[in-house]
Amino acid sequence: MSIDFGADIYEEPIVTKSFLQEDAQEISLRPHTLQEYIGQEKAKNNLAVFIEAARRRTESLDHVLLHGPPGLGKTTLAGIIAQEMGVNIRITSGPAIEKPGDLAALLTNLSENDILFVDEIHRLNRSVEEILYPAMEDYVIDIIIGKGPSANSIRLDLPKFTLIGATTRAGSLSAPLRDRFGVTLRLELYTPEELKKIVTRSAGILNVPIEDSGAMEIARRSRGTPRIANRMLRRVRDFAQVKADGVITRQVADQALLALEVDDLGLDQIDRRMLRAIIDNYGGGPVGLETLAATIGEESVTLEDVYEPYLMQLGFLTRTPRGRCVTRKAYEHLHLDFNGQEQLTL
Ligand code: ADP
Repeated sequence: MSIDFGADIYEEPIVTKSFLQEDAQEISLRPHTLQEYIGQEKAKNNLAVFIEAARRRTESLDHVLLHGPPGLGKTTLAGIIAQEMGVNIRITSGPAIEKPGDLAALLTNLSENDILFVDEIHRLNRSVEEILYPAMEDYVIDIIIGKGPSANSIRLDLPKFTLIGATTRAGSLSAPLRDRFGVTLRLELYTPEELKKIVTRSAGILNVPIEDSGAMEIARRSRGTPRIANRMLRRVRDFAQVKADGVITRQVADQALLALEVDDLGLDQIDRRMLRAIIDNYGGGPVGLETLAATIGEESVTLEDVYEPYLMQLGFLTRTPRGRCVTRKAYEHLHLDFNGQEQLTL
C-alpha cells in the first residue's frame, strides 16, 4: 500500500481564519503564564505593570483591547491575564451576542473582578454596543422591560469586571467603544527566532522529536504566526512519521512544506495567486481590495486580515490610497521580470 503524502490528504489550507479540527489540540499548547508566553515583549511588559498595580490595589484590571492579525495569541493572552489576576474568565465573541439581553445575561452572571473576553469585538451590533458603554464605564446596565407605553427601564448594578476585547481590525471599532478601553495593546507578527521557541515548546508538549534546524525551518515559513507554526508542526510531524524516521530535520520540514505547497518564505497558493493577479491583470497595481478579491475569488476580509499583514511585512505589497501595489521584491521572488514575464533561471 502506498501512502500519498501531499496537500490532498489535508482538505483545509494551513492559512485560514476558520477553526480547523486539528486546532482542538491548541488548548494543550496554550501557555498559561506571562513567563511562558513567548515574544510580544512590549505588550507583556505593559501588562505586567497593569496587572501588578491592579493586584496591589485589589481592584479589577482596566478594560483591555488587544488587536492584531488572527493566530497571534490574543485569546491566549486573555487567559493568561485571568490566571495572573486569579479571576474567572468568560469567553464569547461579537457575533455570538445577538441581542442586548444576551449581553445582559453574560454581565449579570459575572463575579467581582471577573474577565469577560469578547473576540471579534468589532462585530458587535449597535444595540448591544450601546448597553456596553454604561456597563464598562459605571458598571450598570439599563434593561427595558415590557413593550410600548407600559415599557419600563430598570437599572441593574454589575460587579466590577474587566472587559477584554480582541479584534483583527482596531480601525473598525466605533470611537465611543474604543475610547472606553483603558489599555490598548497591539500584537505584532513574531520573529523567526521567537517562532522557533514556540515550535520547540509545542514539539516538547506533543512529544515530537525535532532538530533545531527543523524547528527553524518551520518557524521561518509560518508567516510570523504561532497558530500557523503549530499547524505546520503537526502536519510536518505526520510527514516525518510516514516518509522519514519520525524525527523532524530541516530536510524533512522542507519536503513536507513543499508538498503542502508552502514556499521557501511561507507563501501559499493564495498569496501567490494574489500577487500574480495584481501583476498579470493590473500591471502590478494599484488595484482596489474588493476588485482584487473578486478577481481571485476570495473574501476581501480574508485577504486583508490573513494575507496582507505578512505580505506587507515581507515588503512584497504596499497599500496606497488608490489600492494595493506589488513591489519589485515580489517580482523577484516569483522569478518574474518587470513585464510579468517568467525569468529564465540558468
Ligand atoms: P488569537 O486569539 O490571536 O487568534 P490564539 O490566542 O488563539 O490567537 O493563539 C493561537 C495559538 O498559538 C495558541 O493555541 C497558542 O498555542 C499559540 N500561541 C499564541 N501566542 C503564543 C505565544 N506568545 N507563545 C506560545 N504560544 C503561542
